Amino acid sequence: MKRNTAALVLYMALSALLLAGCGIFSAFQAAPDKDERLLVATTIYPLTCIAQEIGGDRVTVTTLLPAGGSAHLHEVGPAMMQEAVSADLLIRIAGGLDEWAEQVFSTAREDAASLEIATVLAEDGGEDLGDPHVWLDPILVRDHIVPLLVNAFSAVDPEGSVHYVNNAARFTDELTDLDRELQDMFQDVTGRSFISDHAAWTHFAHRYNLEQRGVLETTPGHECSPREATELVDLANHEGIHVITTTRGHGTMLAEALAGQIDGILLDLDPLGDPDSADRNSYAQIMRYNAAKLAAALHESVEP
Ligand SMILES: [Zn+2]
Repeated sequence: MKRNTAALVLYMALSALLLAGCGIFSAFQAAPDKDERLLVATTIYPLTCIAQEIGGDRVTVTTLLPAGGSAHLHEVGPAMMQEAVSADLLIRIAGGLDEWAEQVFSTAREDAASLEIATVLAEDGGEDLGDPHVWLDPILVRDHIVPLLVNAFSAVDPEGSVHYVNNAARFTDELTDLDRELQDMFQDVTGRSFISDHAAWTHFAHRYNLEQRGVLETTPGHECSPREATELVDLANHEGIHVITTTRGHGTMLAEALAGQIDGILLDLDPLGDPDSADRNSYAQIMRYNAAKLAAALHESVEP
């Protein structure tokens, strides 16, 4: 399989490099003291979760976007700039998602490294579905994002390479299990189509054989025209779609109006997770939380 080959080649190359250059004992180095850890700043919490899985106790990861903020339309403040200045490695999604990070990253130290995930994925010719919410597919995370992070961490902290490779191998297994769990959740779900407030679930839908049939905001913050809204109502009534997903409590009047016209369920999802909520404070939990809610709503939506 393509992903296995790419990831395996990377891990083998890194492992060989370490064995040749640093000696096998580098694998058993103690974790650095807290103030010597690599400082990593990411734009959104799911990236922090993934980065922490790979970095383990060699890194301290912070999230630039405050809890509850919009990944798309955040206003940059001084605290965020300060966080970016101290970071050794800055990671963002890019690809039209966290555009505000451009300003923040411009204040980074000259010797700091940065990684734009969607930009690299596009260059690599990966699955480009025109939706930057790439973390919402655990297989895409496993096959593309995890290797990118191992590379980025190892470039900044070569002594930690074995540590990062080992963590990635463990996390890779967890992602494979998580994907199976999610496949099972959607296996017997009768309804497969939904409408979303914005195009956040393209990768997720693609992975689990669902269809995000339409969106209320063509770009975040810009609602579709009244004519397009009418077309969505017609489509939903014609295809029997009754689920409209909103994002973290930001249900709009348009979503409510549409739900009223199609006998629909407004389903609030959380693609960004929340460090203070036990059901959404890890990558796996974020995915489970959303998948379970969506599977239940889709199932209910077509029961008599
Ligand atoms: Zn979004």
